[in-house]
Amino acid sequence: MPYIYWVTLVLRFLGLGYVLLGLWLGNQWLAEQPDSNKFWKPLNPDSPIGWFTKTKVMALQNNPEQCHAFLQRAGVDFTPLSDRQAGQCQLHEQTLLKQSNYRYSATVKGTCPLIAALVLWEKQVVAPAAETHLASPIRSIAHYGIFACRNVRGSGRRSQHATANAIDIAAFTTESGQTIRITRDWEADTQNGAFLHQIHRQSCALFRGALGPDYNAAHHDHFHFDLGRFSFCR
Ligand SMILES: [Zn+2]
Repeated sequence: MPYIYWVTLVLRFLGLGYVLLGLWLGNQWLAEQPDSNKFWKPLNPDSPIGWFTKTKVMALQNNPEQCHAFLQRAGVDFTPLSDRQAGQCQLHEQTLLKQSNYRYSATVKGTCPLIAALVLWEKQVVAPAAETHLASPIRSIAHYGIFACRNVRGSGRRSQHATANAIDIAAFTTESGQTIRITRDWEADTQNGAFLHQIHRQSCALFRGALGPDYNAAHHDHFHFDLGRFSFCR
């Protein structure tokens, strides 16, 4: 038998071996990925922010059943509210967040996807940032509001606040009683400043719109987070 036959046979076995090794390595790699990097897995409150987090959050829009199921998986206390007209503004798929990981300075009531994003943000953005930069975990969060039937300031475009699809965050208070304010600590070269910058950076991977003091003077004292049509991060 010509030796070329044996060479071909060995090469074929080697080729098959490489394909199997590749499949095995690929499978190992996939198994180590968090749920947020697997598009076929539902949004997981315990999975760090990954490639498909934002897509999965946006997929909760017009999908109240999946949104409520997510909030149940996250273990928070919430009440779905009926649709209503508030002046010129129409409110759909509203949810009241009664109890989550933190206390809020005011009622938290908005679209279900916004509430879902907020709960995910508490766990996967705020808690890790506090662990990295602060001596004590966060206890409460101050916000300036969610629903406001108005246009974007200085434009004719409807604000995401007009459908309760945005929240303005002003400050964080730790278990030890220290308050970190965006208006005071954003510019500071301190751990508190680094805490706020980490939150702003990572919020961009979760919300569609994330604006902070560097955007304009109107945002000098808060972060604006929304789930609108446009993706921006400033
Ligand atoms: Zn806002």
